[in-house]
Amino acid sequence: MTVVTRFAPSPTGRLHVGNIRTALVCWLAARAAGGHFMLRLDDTDRARSTEEFVDAIRADLGWLGLVPDGEVRQSDRFALYERAFETLHAAGRVYPCYESEEELSIRRKVALGRGLPPIYDRAALKLSAEERQALEADGIRPHWRFRLDAKPIEWTDLVRGPQHFEGAALSDPVIRRADGSWLYLLPSVIDDIDMKVSHVVRGEDHVANTAIQLQMFEALGAAVPQFAHMALLVGTDGKLSKREGAIGVGQLRDQGIEPQAMLGLLARLGTSEPVVAVAAIAELIEGFAFAHMGRAPARFDPAELTQLNAKTLHLLPYEAVRERLPEGISEAAWLAIRPNLTTLVDAAEGWAMIEGPVPAPAFEAEDKAFCARAAAIAETLDWSADPWGQLVGALKAETGRKGRALFLPLRQALTGRDHGPEMAALLPLIGRDRAVARLSA
Ligand code: GLU
Repeated sequence: MTVVTRFAPSPTGRLHVGNIRTALVCWLAARAAGGHFMLRLDDTDRARSTEEFVDAIRADLGWLGLVPDGEVRQSDRFALYERAFETLHAAGRVYPCYESEEELSIRRKVALGRGLPPIYDRAALKLSAEERQALEADGIRPHWRFRLDAKPIEWTDLVRGPQHFEGAALSDPVIRRADGSWLYLLPSVIDDIDMKVSHVVRGEDHVANTAIQLQMFEALGAAVPQFAHMALLVGTDGKLSKREGAIGVGQLRDQGIEPQAMLGLLARLGTSEPVVAVAAIAELIEGFAFAHMGRAPARFDPAELTQLNAKTLHLLPYEAVRERLPEGISEAAWLAIRPNLTTLVDAAEGWAMIEGPVPAPAFEAEDKAFCARAAAIAETLDWSADPWGQLVGALKAETGRKGRALFLPLRQALTGRDHGPEMAALLPLIGRDRAVARLSA
């Protein structure tokens, strides 16, 4: 069996933390099995779906590196849905209903008032052909429901384990509106069959939908795929806040978060495996297994993301970042700057310490003299062999300074800052001429 997964966002917004995680797990499951990862655009809601969001979703997946092997759009597939609908109609698995929203809402309240579950009473199933004709003659167009079989519904979820629902306890779902438009449930099943989806991976908010959809697969004579319902993402204190939940690709980019960091974190959140920094997302494939995913909510912490971003940058080779670095940064400069970065944006600061101009510190006379002495020594050093080690060695021996008193004025004079990358890595890149000039400034 070829593993086929699909990521099925509605193009009604940008991708955010929750659906980036779903996309990632779909991608990992497909890649780990040498299968296919498909993008399905759930754009049956014509009012809320836009071309802009379609393009944004493609671009966001591209930026993340989760490139699909193919794409389908639900709005291209209405003929397919119509055919399946006819099949179900002929088999008596869909039926027309004429109740208004108000009527249904009153009936639900009555049922609840009597302590009964608020499920649809199937009144429409009892209508005679004449009664239906009379309603339609009055101008009432029907919406359609799927008739569930009153039997147990069971599956073994790849994340949640054995699942059990009673068909009799569920409401026949509306699958099509009176204007002919489709609700999510049935088209999704028709597509999953047509696309030969082997694994449906999505959030646990869809578990009850799965119970219904399993009967739809059966009613259409199709084999059922495997299901994996991921535990919800939560924030640092309980529910994922609006702000955390809305973190999307645009914002990650603006904050200087690398895709490898975002995906590295999301791949392991809520799993039994530790979060590790990776230089390329392909490294996440090997450790992937649905069995590692827990049922408990997965906690998303933006601070953890920032930390992982730093660790990720420290691994990235020059080639991976070259195009995004300030003009002129060499590989050696990148390697010197890299260990101090939290985001790539900070590389400009590291580069400024090398290239200058650096602000001259306001030194007291004593430090001024110390730096002047350092400048004189710097002139004489062999710059091809650890000039920093030679410089501080000589200064220490000559002045007796050590620790902060030895290092800080040199760093301040050479870089214009109190903190930064290792001086041993920076100094060869600053070079003799600039070093001498800065120390004597
Ligand atoms: N468009 C649906 C959603 O975003 C897809 C659910 C599914 O994966 O079946 O919730």
